[in-house]
Amino acid sequence: MLAVAILFLLSSAAVTNCEVEEEAIISRFQNYLRINTAHPNPNYNEAAQFIAAEANSLSLDTQTLEFLKGKPLVLLKWAGRDPSLPSILLNSHTDVVPAETHKWNHPPFDAHLHPSSGHIYARGSQDMKCVGIQYLEAIRKLQASGFRPLRTVYLSFVPDEEIGGHDGAEMFADSDVFRKMNVGIVLDEGLASPNEDYRVFYGERSPWWLVIKATGAPGHGAKLYDNTAMENLIKSVESVRRFRASQFDLVKAGLKAEGEVISVNMVFLKAGTPSPTGFVMNLQPSEAQAGFDIRVPPTADEASLERRIAEEWAPATRNMTFEFKQRVSVNDKFGKPVVTAIDSSNPWWALLEEAIKSAKGKLGKPEIFPASTDARYFRGRGLPAIGFSPMANTPILLHDHNEFLNKDEYLRGIGIYESIIKAYASYEEPRKDEASRAEL
Ligand SMILES: [Zn+2]
Repeated sequence: MLAVAILFLLSSAAVTNCEVEEEAIISRFQNYLRINTAHPNPNYNEAAQFIAAEANSLSLDTQTLEFLKGKPLVLLKWAGRDPSLPSILLNSHTDVVPAETHKWNHPPFDAHLHPSSGHIYARGSQDMKCVGIQYLEAIRKLQASGFRPLRTVYLSFVPDEEIGGHDGAEMFADSDVFRKMNVGIVLDEGLASPNEDYRVFYGERSPWWLVIKATGAPGHGAKLYDNTAMENLIKSVESVRRFRASQFDLVKAGLKAEGEVISVNMVFLKAGTPSPTGFVMNLQPSEAQAGFDIRVPPTADEASLERRIAEEWAPATRNMTFEFKQRVSVNDKFGKPVVTAIDSSNPWWALLEEAIKSAKGKLGKPEIFPASTDARYFRGRGLPAIGFSPMANTPILLHDHNEFLNKDEYLRGIGIYESIIKAYASYEEPRKDEASRAEL
C-alpha cells in the first residue's frame, strides 16, 4: 500500500515537473513574440538582447554583427568536437511584417495563449520566431541529455528578411565571417501545413516584377479610334489573365503544386488624366501602365517567358514597352537551376528525412517555395539549403490577421529539431574506402 502511495506521489511529481518545464518553454516563446520587430521600425536591439541572454543561458558563443548600423545580426556558435568538419547553420529572421492591430482578436504583440484551444496568437508565431527559438530549445534539451556535437552548430538570427534580406542574410552570406564558418548545410524557414504532413522546400520561385506601358494618341472621350493606350493595355491585360488562368487551372486540377507554376498577379494599374475631383472623363489618355508580380519556378524556361512578354504582353507592334523592377534569374552563375538536391547525392537530405521519421513526424513531398526566403542567398553560393518549419495541422497564416501557432504543435516541433540537430551535428562522412565499397 505504502509502495503504491509512494509511486503515485513520484509520478504526480514527475507530471508537475514536466508541466513546469513546458510552461517555461512556452513563456520564453511568448517573450520573444512580445518584442515588436515589425517593419517599418523593428525593435532589433531588444530582439538581439533577448537572443543573447538565451544563448548565454546555454553557454553558446555570441557575436553581434552589424553589416548596417542599427540592423544587428546575432550569430551563435555551439562548438563541435571536430571544428575542421563543415558546420551546420540554423537560420531564422527576427523581423516580422506589420499587423493591422484592429483586425486582430488579440493584440498581435501580446502573444495571448488561448486557454481552451492552446493557440498562441502573435505576429511572428508562424513566420518565423517559432523556428528561431525552437532551435534554441532543442539545443537546451540536447545539452541536458549530455549530447555533444561533433560538428559545430551555428545559429543566425538575421534582420530584414521581410524587406528583401539585402542588409541581412545577403550581406552575411557574402561576408568573411560566413566564409570562415565553413558551412555545409543550411536550414531555413518553410510553411505551415494544414494536414499532418510537414512541408519541406528545396528551392523557390524567382520574382520578376514587370511593368508594361502602352502609349497612343490622346483623343476625345466620345471618339472611337484604334490604338489608344487604354485599348492596347487592356489587350495585354486580357492576355496575361488567360495565361494566369491556365497556370492556376493546373494547380486547381492537382496537376501541379503552387511552387511549380508561373504565377502572375496584377499589382497596379496606372492611367487617366487627374482632375481636382478625380479624373478627366472626356479624355482618352496617351499613356497607361500596369504592374505584375510574376513568380518563376526554377524549372521554368526563362527564354520562352521572355518571348511571351515581348510578343504578347508588351509587343512593340502595339506601341508597348516593358521593364523589370526586379528580375532574379532561376539559374545560378553556372547556368543551372538554383535548387538543393533531394536525392542520394545530398546526404543532408536523407539525414533530415530519417531524423523527422524517428521523431514520429511525417514529411510531405518536397516542394518549391512559392515566394522568396533568405535561403536563396545560401543556395546562390552553391550550398544546400532546406526550408522547413515544423508546423503540421496548422492553417497557413503568415502575414495574415490572427496569425497563431498551437502550443502543442510548437512543443512537438522542438522534439523534431532535437532529432534533426542531433543527426546533423553527429554526421560523419563515410570514409573514401567505405564509400567506394558501397558503390560496388
Ligand atoms: Zn519568414
